[in-house]
Amino acid sequence: MIQLPANISPAQDVLNSLQKYQEEIDALLTFEEKSAKTKQIFSNRNKIGNKVFDTIKLKLTQMCSGARRCVYCEDSVGDEVEHIHPKNLYPELCFNWGNYVYACGNCNGPKNNKFAVFRDSDGLFCEVNPHRGQKAMQPPSGEDAMINPRIENPLDYCILDISTTFEFVLLPNLNERKHKKADYTFNFVLRLNEREFLRKARANAYTNYKARLYYYTNKKNDGVQGQILHKMIEGIKGEAHPTVWQEMKRYHTLGILTNIDSELNELFIASPEALAW
Ligand SMILES: [Zn+2]
Repeated sequence: MIQLPANISPAQDVLNSLQKYQEEIDALLTFEEKSAKTKQIFSNRNKIGNKVFDTIKLKLTQMCSGARRCVYCEDSVGDEVEHIHPKNLYPELCFNWGNYVYACGNCNGPKNNKFAVFRDSDGLFCEVNPHRGQKAMQPPSGEDAMINPRIENPLDYCILDISTTFEFVLLPNLNERKHKKADYTFNFVLRLNEREFLRKARANAYTNYKARLYYYTNKKNDGVQGQILHKMIEGIKGEAHPTVWQEMKRYHTLGILTNIDSELNELFIASPEALAW
């Protein structure tokens, strides 16, 4: 799961069009009515050939890592406009640009409309999605209990174990609320540790990043310059599973990489510029 760049946005006329679309929902009188109709109203607009959503998708593509990878798993193609705040629970955010990410079906399906908050009334963790067969109820006010990749860095909550398991481990110094939020997001909603193919893909990515950095460092030491090196750098930046690369750099910066992979640690010492990629 990656934090998306904050500096990408559609032009004002597209944001204005979204606001116009939103008025159709806002005009409905009750939460129940809004919740029930928001899916259809969204589908009516989110169609191929709708210029507003063509632009939205273009901007979401620019925010993705690598070859338009899903924000959550970083593995599959992101091809579904996903609402971070589910639209049947938060119909007022159905056409809100800041509520969109590109996700894959494997993540978006199980995530569905799962969401939770820390209720303002008593501070307790509270799942707000309806149970199967039940209608959505208006969520109580409260702080989100799900990490929002549009405004937060998931790596402030977790560290990826790049030595053996390639699982996300919650950081030990989190307060109770952050710990719950991270566990809910990583393990319960998105199942980023449970899915074995994701752990394998992260392990592969580690090998790929290391091989690319090894190749780059050797070529640089051979005197290769300019466009050829630039292409190698762009190759690393476009590689799948950028969280793995972020963590390789973090381990080095924290001084713990040398115990795990001294060879990789030496590569960062030989090519410190890589820490900025
Ligand atoms: Zn995914």
